[in-house]
Amino acid sequence: MGCIPDRTTNQPSNQLLATPTSSANSLNLTSALETLSLDGYFTFKNNHHAAKDFGNTFQSLPLAVLHPKSVSDISSTIKLIFELGSASELTVAARGHGHSLQGQAQTHGGLVINMESLKAQQMQVHIGEQPYVDVSGGELWINILHETLKYGLSPKSWTDYLHLTVGGTLSYAGISGQAFRHGPQINNVYQLEVVTGQGEVITCSENKSPDLFYGVLGGLGQFGIITQARISLEPAPKMVKWIRVLYSDFSSFTKDQEFLISSENSFDYIEGFVIINRTGLLNNWRSSFNPKDPMQASKFNSDGRTLYCLEMAKYFNPNETDVMDQRTESLLLLLHYIPSTLFLSEVSYVEFLDRVHLSEIKLRTKGLWEVPHPWMNLLIPKSKIHDFADEIFGNILTDNINGPILMYPVNKTKWNNNTSLVTPDEDVFYLVAFLSSAVPSSTGTDGLDQILTQNTRILEYCDRAQLGIKQYLPYYRTQQEWKAHFGPRWQAFIQRKSSYDPLAILAPGQKIFQKAI
Ligand code: FAD
Repeated sequence: MGCIPDRTTNQPSNQLLATPTSSANSLNLTSALETLSLDGYFTFKNNHHAAKDFGNTFQSLPLAVLHPKSVSDISSTIKLIFELGSASELTVAARGHGHSLQGQAQTHGGLVINMESLKAQQMQVHIGEQPYVDVSGGELWINILHETLKYGLSPKSWTDYLHLTVGGTLSYAGISGQAFRHGPQINNVYQLEVVTGQGEVITCSENKSPDLFYGVLGGLGQFGIITQARISLEPAPKMVKWIRVLYSDFSSFTKDQEFLISSENSFDYIEGFVIINRTGLLNNWRSSFNPKDPMQASKFNSDGRTLYCLEMAKYFNPNETDVMDQRTESLLLLLHYIPSTLFLSEVSYVEFLDRVHLSEIKLRTKGLWEVPHPWMNLLIPKSKIHDFADEIFGNILTDNINGPILMYPVNKTKWNNNTSLVTPDEDVFYLVAFLSSAVPSSTGTDGLDQILTQNTRILEYCDRAQLGIKQYLPYYRTQQEWKAHFGPRWQAFIQRKSSYDPLAILAPGQKIFQKAI
């Protein structure tokens, strides 16, 4: 495909904040864009917000930002850019909530589409045997939760944090503690409306244009911009029993996790995390978890140890408390955690799902939300999780990483293999997420380089030991690496690119394809 030369460079682009394109060229492009008659509008100045993301290490300033008010705003803009063809450098980055890590929603000198301005369209909940909600691609999951709850309904599969857009999470997968049962968010969508790289508006589903439908789900924004999604719903519970237990033995921890995800009558949410050498553990619970018995909790001495925390939740309604308690107790009896470490809490469904937002509020007040986030997410085959843990927690990470390390298994058998998402080649694999923050210290350094070096060491080990891992929210510098990531599915991926975005206009921040000019 002519538009796909190898990428060999990808520097953090703080230096790219200067003039994006030559001024004569950008003047022409600006006037070309201004000829369009839109419901929304472009901004050509003060677009620095669109040059940033949550990762806070990459910055690329666009030429313009489109604030669409209708799907036709997006379609006619992309059509124009497509027609300009290789005469223009313009590429297009849909920006959801900008919670990417390495500039994936940015474009240097191109056009950012602020998808949140499209969300003014009304959400529509459809009740019935197979309830669903139609939402804009720029809608935040937290708003979908509040809207669907008005009908006693809720989406089935979530991310840990809900202030992310539908288009943003469906471009990857959307994984949380419900994914072992329901699959990721991309498996809980009935239909999409997509604007392709030629500006065509296409409604697609399992039965209608399935190649585009499955291509876009987990497709890293490469084949089209999601303007609408039909999300499947289920009856929503009112309350959640939220449980944490600790292990010092890794084998017992993973055995119990694997047992729980294999059982039909299990918890509704199963996650876990690793605690390395943390003192005052219970003052440091991630998110809003407040165990009912803080005295018992405070007696537990975690100093200097590596511990594994299994986190579970059971949904219930107030009139079902007794049954829920019995089920929970009988499940807990089958587990092998340290007996004195059972921490229980009961919260509303909304509090549970929106739990990370509380941490966000706390971190923002301390100025610790907008620091660099050199996060790394890996999918590890079950057969290799012990090798991985021995090396990573035994040798590479000897101290805590200033952020949580999540670790939990999921069932690939519950996931749809037709999407663009690439996962390890085993029926069960683990998500391991290293969610570090580079926080400025008293010496003035933020440790970013050290964390990046640690990430590289982890990846190099996985490579050397041939663990068959895949990156989730993948980040690569060269097309060669992307090719290796997709493996046998690379050909299908580039085939779809040439069908739906032949000039490689869309999602340049992923650095998979480069527009031919
Ligand atoms: P953006 O960062 O704006 O965009 C991400 C990519 O998608 C870009 O390439 C962009 O061009 C493309 N894109 C955006 N909108 C569209 C659209 N409408 N159509 C097509 N392409 C589009 N992920 C999980 O799976 N599970 C988690 O539990 C989880 N927790 C997180 C917690 C936090 C605090 C953060 C910051 C991230 C978390 N993530 C999690 C990762 C998150 O799902 C992704 O980063 C997601 O892309 C963020 O959504 P966004 O709306 O901010 O997307």
